[in-house]
Amino acid sequence: MLLPTILPNKKIANFPLSNQSLLIMHKIIPLISSLLLLYSVAGFAQHDIESGIERNTNHLQNLYFDLHQTPELSFMEFNTAKKMAGELKSLGFEVHEAVSGNTLVGLFRNGDGPVIMVRTDMDALPVEEKTGLPYSSSVISSDQAGNLVSVMHACGHDMHMTVWSGTARLMVEMKDQWKGTLMMIAQQAEEQSGGAKNVIEAGLYKKFPLPDYALAYHVSDKIPAGKIGYCAGPIMAGVRSVDITVYGEGGHGAQPDRTIDPIVLASRMVVDFQTIVSRELSPLSPAVVTVGSIHGGTKHNIIPAEVNLQLTIRYYDELVGDQIIAALKRIGNGLAASANLPPEKYPLVTVQDDSTPPVINDEALTGRLVNVLDNAFGKEHILKVAPLMVGEDFGQYGLTPEKVAISLMWLGSVPQEKYDAGDMPGLHTAYYYPDYELTISTGVKGMVLKLMELFGN
Ligand SMILES: [Zn+2]
Ligand SMILES: [Zn+2]
Repeated sequence: MLLPTILPNKKIANFPLSNQSLLIMHKIIPLISSLLLLYSVAGFAQHDIESGIERNTNHLQNLYFDLHQTPELSFMEFNTAKKMAGELKSLGFEVHEAVSGNTLVGLFRNGDGPVIMVRTDMDALPVEEKTGLPYSSSVISSDQAGNLVSVMHACGHDMHMTVWSGTARLMVEMKDQWKGTLMMIAQQAEEQSGGAKNVIEAGLYKKFPLPDYALAYHVSDKIPAGKIGYCAGPIMAGVRSVDITVYGEGGHGAQPDRTIDPIVLASRMVVDFQTIVSRELSPLSPAVVTVGSIHGGTKHNIIPAEVNLQLTIRYYDELVGDQIIAALKRIGNGLAASANLPPEKYPLVTVQDDSTPPVINDEALTGRLVNVLDNAFGKEHILKVAPLMVGEDFGQYGLTPEKVAISLMWLGSVPQEKYDAGDMPGLHTAYYYPDYELTISTGVKGMVLKLMELFGN
């Protein structure tokens, strides 16, 4: 509300001084008092959140160290799930364990109001930690194939769980300040992309109250701790994993004329696949085709009968994903034909069922939450970031017929000195670690503020 639009300067000039002052006071005093009231309500909630975080700091940091030192691989988060269930039970949540595998759901029913879901993932990665931190992981366990592997929370899901638990604690402590149902979900197997899909298929939206909104974080290895990154609309890409078996006719390495060499054929395919993004797709459609693995043969002088390729493809539009798969088949078949292979020996292209859709943040919801965060943290701490080609199965929660509005934000985690030095170990590496203190407090404060906004406080 601006005074000059109500009273043009010309008119003010014609009033005697006393009238003018009265008029200004009449307009300004209510404006100032309502601003003060707004400030005190927001400031009060913020003060409660900050003191709540302080009270819970020890608990949350110890939880973080414990989770970091006891990582479990995808689909094997047995003890982690028990710990998460224990956290919620101690707060009075109604906890449903093993809703799908290790995934659990906790409900805190706090009167009439919206249902809001907050999701954490729980799984770690087969990476040997080399951070040298006093709370490093030294866990070695068997993977699904039975191989012994080192295990590390190299994707920061231990931080997601800590912030998630802290959020639940504060929301219960502040239960007099909001009304509605808080639905906390701790999900298995994000890294293998099965977790979200499995729990939705197991009836997440049918057995439990349907959420009005679903929120999550992923830690960022590019944003300093203390800041949060957002992107309204598409934020992470769709992912499909593709296996290709390239057939040939094997034989003696000294008699290539009596073979059809699948190593040469697979090499041509790897090169020609590079033209799919660069020559076939619209330059305005972001996509990636990466051949991450090529295996074939046993010995110097044997031409093998087949070679296996493993690819990841990334896109923001499912039709582009389909177009890439079709192009892989067409190019593979064409090269096999040119090598004189019969059609029954054309390459076998298999799309794995661990595909994940893009994460598309609800624009209105994200915009509303960004406003709240801007006001509480200051705009310089809330960064608009570009979408990335990495994947996350959180997008699944927004793509069911129920059309739940979702919003995932990047939680800055890089220690400031690392950020300043430009030395930022990436997620999924043996060297990744967050500034746990600042990341926990920023994450919890941000999530509680968002929930307070959506629950109508
Ligand atoms: Zn990851
Ligand atoms: Zn992750």
